[in-house]
Amino acid sequence: MKEICKLLPNKTKVFAAVKANGYGHGAIQAARAALNSGAHGLLVAFLDEALELRKAGITAPILVLGYTRADDAGVAAKSNISLTVYQYEWLQNAEKFISDESTLSVHIKCDTGMNRIGIKGINDLCLMEDFITTSSSYYFEGIYTHFATADQVEEQYYQKQLARFREFLGVLKTQPPYVHAANSAATLYHHDSLFNAIRVGIAIYGLSPSPEIKPYLPFKGMEAFSLYTKIIHIKKLSAGETIGYGATYTAEEDEWIATIPIGYADGWLRHLQGFRVIADDEWAPIVGRICMDQTMIKLPYFMPIGTKVTLMGQRNGKKISIDHVAEKLNTINYEVTCMISHRVPRIYI
Ligand SMILES: *Cc1c(COP(=O)(O)O)cnc(C)c1O
Repeated sequence: MKEICKLLPNKTKVFAAVKANGYGHGAIQAARAALNSGAHGLLVAFLDEALELRKAGITAPILVLGYTRADDAGVAAKSNISLTVYQYEWLQNAEKFISDESTLSVHIKCDTGMNRIGIKGINDLCLMEDFITTSSSYYFEGIYTHFATADQVEEQYYQKQLARFREFLGVLKTQPPYVHAANSAATLYHHDSLFNAIRVGIAIYGLSPSPEIKPYLPFKGMEAFSLYTKIIHIKKLSAGETIGYGATYTAEEDEWIATIPIGYADGWLRHLQGFRVIADDEWAPIVGRICMDQTMIKLPYFMPIGTKVTLMGQRNGKKISIDHVAEKLNTINYEVTCMISHRVPRIYI
């Protein structure tokens, strides 16, 4: 967050995305760290996530990026939580749920090519702006869009979306306090869509928005997330003995096999079979199928119960990066930290 703030003009407000439990890192801890390091506000996907932050005593601005039931507009207004709006009918429906003493701050979402949520027509924007600014229940706090391809080096589609967003902005009668478009990729790679606020997620966790733009980032991220466990059992197998469900691995010689207490229910997915982890200071391949709660690894020599095993992170010059795990799983780093389940205790250092 500090590195990001260094790159921005002073007036640019930074919103930190802590949705999905802070991309798996812990929403409250990530929110506090971001706010202490220069973030102005927070972003979540759902109202429940915003309420959890308020319950923890966080008073910074919070914007809900996704859908909220019209019935919950009053709860949001009372808790000073801003909502994303993109349907005229929603504004009409939600009005009756907002008490006379409170005002709901809203950001209008413009769809400029992501085709997920947002208004597509310029006329819709005019109608919604008029409705919001003439209603005593609403405060027109922001307008924004979201890029579909900002994490790609090729920028034609990105530029098309940016131009379309400027068309939306061009018809506003009043400019709201927050105008925002850039995610991490647009902030760190494109630089030309900052407006007066940005929305950064993946970069604050020390991860690159994509492998493609990683070489071009203005600073090198430090992954905040590591994953460790310990050996809970060890034995020597003889040649011919097999391991785990389906007996998919057969020892070729006498082999030291250790068990670690993590499995697919922890988000340590079955597809990681064959991946190498680090037991103490040594590479140790996962052998046999990953179970729901346990995994077996092959050690180069005997190690005592309690030996530290690194699944993601660094250990004496050896490193397993989150990008590396993502590659093995044919996915993106975002998904890797998000999928490490609730059962894995988060420890903050
Ligand atoms: C999650 C999200 C962001 C943050 O994206 P990163 O790629 O993690 O920086 C920004 N805007 C919206 C609408 C989002 O849903």
